[in-house]
Amino acid sequence: MEIKITRTSKPLPKPDSSKLGFGKIFTDHMCICEYSTAEGWHNARIEPFRNLSLSPASMVFHYGQEMFEGLKAYRTDDGRILLFRPDKNVERMNNTNARLCIPYLDPDFTLNAIKATVKIDADWVPSEPGTSLYIRPFIIATDPFLGVHPSHTYMFIIILSPSGSYYAAGLNPVKIAVESEYVRAVKGGTGFAKVGGNYAGSLIGQQKAEEQGYAQVLWLDGIQHKYIDEVGAMNVFFKINGEVITPSLEGSILPGVTRRSVIELLRDKGFTVSERRISIDEVYQASENGTLEEMFGTGTAAVISPVGELVWNDKHIIINNSEIGPVSDMLYKQLTGIQWGKIEDKYGWTVKVI
Ligand SMILES: *Cc1c(COP(=O)(O)O)cnc(C)c1O
Repeated sequence: MEIKITRTSKPLPKPDSSKLGFGKIFTDHMCICEYSTAEGWHNARIEPFRNLSLSPASMVFHYGQEMFEGLKAYRTDDGRILLFRPDKNVERMNNTNARLCIPYLDPDFTLNAIKATVKIDADWVPSEPGTSLYIRPFIIATDPFLGVHPSHTYMFIIILSPSGSYYAAGLNPVKIAVESEYVRAVKGGTGFAKVGGNYAGSLIGQQKAEEQGYAQVLWLDGIQHKYIDEVGAMNVFFKINGEVITPSLEGSILPGVTRRSVIELLRDKGFTVSERRISIDEVYQASENGTLEEMFGTGTAAVISPVGELVWNDKHIIINNSEIGPVSDMLYKQLTGIQWGKIEDKYGWTVKVI
């Protein structure tokens, strides 16, 4: 599908790249594509960023038929702009679409649309260390209809947001609260899919954690409240007695691109990595007997987020003296090195936009 381009006649001034934060500033353009049963996906275009005009009856507002993705474009020192494994995001998009009865998107078209949108707003990819351009593709159901049914019309949109360094003050271990009342997902539900509804249901747990002075929530499985699922918008890893463990993908966990890359990197470097169930009891026992070496989260936003403290039913544990462990540190340097083009990409993970 061709993408028609209309450039803005009023480009905005670029923000100060030392004060970007996350998700508040948007670029000059956006990509939009529409779907109807008769025409399939059609009318793909890049146009000036603007507000949408939708019927208040649009299905997305009522039953939440919405999906999204998240990836970044990185500027290298020699002036290239790189994406990190975008084919994995595009593949995951269609897995999410299938679960939500949203029509399949052609992967080549989707990747081209992402690249073309980043290319038009290439000047918006910041260059300060640690900064990037966050890419948010998403799809909404637009039938003006209050019945519970998959929509017959959709909009696929890509917006871009320059984002600041996640670790402006250096790689800092976070404190995490284990949630034992609310759950995020169950097998058979939508936990493996990237959908807004998963987040709507998780806000209350996040709020509770923040009230207690914790940065994020560690979610346990939805049935026994015993096995570890994941953290907020990150997958989790533990290093216990030399073994690196991450919860296996059984339907309730988002299969992160960063998670997969970490597993591949660690195995390549000779670590033993197990994808298996791990209970919160096992983690607390390991802490007690001194074998819990490291814990960290993985995701596009933070890359690697070392965890320094857990609280579960008022029991606190401190991990690795609340310091960054050697594995977290190595992974952070390797992944960010590849993403910003500073070290050789021997796995072929990066895709050049410019
Ligand atoms: C996006 C997301 C992740 C991280 O996935 P990446 O592809 O590594 O960015 C983890 N958990 C949830 C719930 C997510 O939405």
